[in-house]
Amino acid sequence: MSIAANIEQVRERIARAAERVGRRGNAITLVGVSKTFPAAAIREGYAAGVRHFGENRVQEWETKHAQVADLDATWHLVGHLQSNKTRRAARLFHAIDSLDSPSLARKLNDAVAEAEASRLTVLLEVRLSPESTKTGVEAAELPRLAEAVLALSHLNLRGLMTIPPFFDDPELARPYFSKLRELRDELSRRLGRELPELSMGMSHDFEVAIEEGATQIRLGTALFGERKTP
Ligand SMILES: *Cc1c(COP(=O)(O)O)cnc(C)c1O
Repeated sequence: MSIAANIEQVRERIARAAERVGRRGNAITLVGVSKTFPAAAIREGYAAGVRHFGENRVQEWETKHAQVADLDATWHLVGHLQSNKTRRAARLFHAIDSLDSPSLARKLNDAVAEAEASRLTVLLEVRLSPESTKTGVEAAELPRLAEAVLALSHLNLRGLMTIPPFFDDPELARPYFSKLRELRDELSRRLGRELPELSMGMSHDFEVAIEEGATQIRLGTALFGERKTP
């Protein structure tokens, strides 16, 4: 199937999942995760109406970005950011969805200032289980990280992100999604400031994530097909 046809199907699935819980499908941002796919795939997605794209490696994105820099899209880093790549990341992305430490936040803030780039949108990646990922902040450390980020004038804290463990049955991911929502609500109250975004849900579990309040879903395979490299 073509990327355009995949996107049309995905949009219907988003709308149905949203409807089940009284939400509107168009309130959910579709982030096309284009890692390992060529710039041409991004153009196809863009032509079909996708306006947010995610990549997980600064290096790979540097090459591809040059080929799609004319598009009026929002570029997200969804993978872990290494501290020696903050300067390049500040120039190449509008949003860092995977911030997970105060020291990285400070480096990133300095890099944005230095590049005289506009304020960078950031989400804090939360690690909700030891088997899911190596990256992400522990829930107990989340308030401290959020407070550190709020003190940095070049970063705009918008919400949380998580990657649950992979389950064949997406229902099993539901507790992780609801946990992220609870953490977001708690943190918003504590900070006295609304954190609107919840980036959660990938190709195999995005409908459950939407039912649990996802505002951004990150889809690779469902839009672009199987990746050849992991
Ligand atoms: C690759 C990736 C995705 C997309 O994964 P699919 O299962 O192909 O939809 C989403 N989020 C992150 C952080 C990724 O690295």
